[in-house]
Amino acid sequence: MTVDNLIGMSRYRLQPTPAQEQMLAEHCGHARFVWNLAVEQHRHWKPGRTSAPGFAEQRRQLTEARAESAWLRAGSVTVQQQALKDFAQAMANYFGQSHRKPTWRKRGQNEGFRIVAVRPGDVRRLSRKVGEVKIPKVGWVRFCWSRSVPHGAKSHRVTRDAAGRWHVAFAAIPEPIPAPGTGEVVGIDRGVAVSAALSTGELLTAPTLRQAEQERLARLLRKLSRAKRGSNRRVKVKLAVARLKARESDRRKDWIEKATTDLARRFDVIAVENLNISSMTRSARGTLQAPGRNIAAKAGLNRGILAAGWGRLVERLEHKAPGRVVKINPAYTSQRCSACGIVDAKARESQAAFRCRSCGYAANADVNAARNIRDTAAGHAVAARGRSGLPGRTNREPHPDPLSV
Ligand SMILES: [Zn+2]
Repeated sequence: MTVDNLIGMSRYRLQPTPAQEQMLAEHCGHARFVWNLAVEQHRHWKPGRTSAPGFAEQRRQLTEARAESAWLRAGSVTVQQQALKDFAQAMANYFGQSHRKPTWRKRGQNEGFRIVAVRPGDVRRLSRKVGEVKIPKVGWVRFCWSRSVPHGAKSHRVTRDAAGRWHVAFAAIPEPIPAPGTGEVVGIDRGVAVSAALSTGELLTAPTLRQAEQERLARLLRKLSRAKRGSNRRVKVKLAVARLKARESDRRKDWIEKATTDLARRFDVIAVENLNISSMTRSARGTLQAPGRNIAAKAGLNRGILAAGWGRLVERLEHKAPGRVVKINPAYTSQRCSACGIVDAKARESQAAFRCRSCGYAANADVNAARNIRDTAAGHAVAARGRSGLPGRTNREPHPDPLSV
């Protein structure tokens, strides 16, 4: 297994000629059009109704749309059909509660398209630093061979970021990482003060921009607010902002790869909350039953990280540790004492500190939650094997449905 497969880094800078760039932008436009068409069709759909079209129906509509529109017809049917499939996958992820609901794509934001059924001959190396990838209707497009290209990539995605950079990412599902065989279960909680807390007590923090970069970003945003609409200066400043944000996003993705590889190597079973992102943003405000764990200053900061990062983190864990990721119903994980099992809504001394008023157990609130997640997963595994619960767990309130998946 190469290091590249292991950490899943497979994004390369594309170097299209100006003519190719124009054709790539056309593909993006078609993919966006088809995607938005699918969003429109699902807009009024609610669970229980049967009116939302399935993939087959949407494909039939795409055929019709192509017959009517010369603009669509001129594009690649592969690109357009794949956009529909991507949308279907996004809806499946949404219903699987790992991702937010797919929304409109806007020009200039998250532009991209996917090419599937890639054959080994569709990617070739020209020199030490230069490769080429074959793209329908565009031909061979050069890319910077900055690291080895994963073998057996069946698809790739071409994207244009807000900074105007083109990339190709080969979808190499990472090789499953063998379980260590220790029987150890780890619980992971998305944290308040940190990005994730482990039941081992470790606190993981996704990288953000460095202090100097944050200051530069603040300066740029001030400049942007002063720059005249449509001016060259505004375009320049906007580009600089987009570059900084892209850098931050790259760092987070990199961090997720490293963190998930580490977790898959160290633990046999990895327990996470089954998280519905939309309910998460609700819980950020807090309710009577479950006081928000993400309130105040952290909310703004963390919501962005989590919305984009948590779904990806779980997805990569499932790739790297297939069958070893357990999703837990998050009810009460933040209010229950992981030492004595009592549920106490007032045990939170602060956002970051948990102190049990019954047994005196004190811990980082996120770590306490992570331990509850771990114990729920472990208890379920034991119960599933037909044994009695783990010692010391009998005094806990029953969980009608500890595993929500
Ligand atoms: Zn306690």
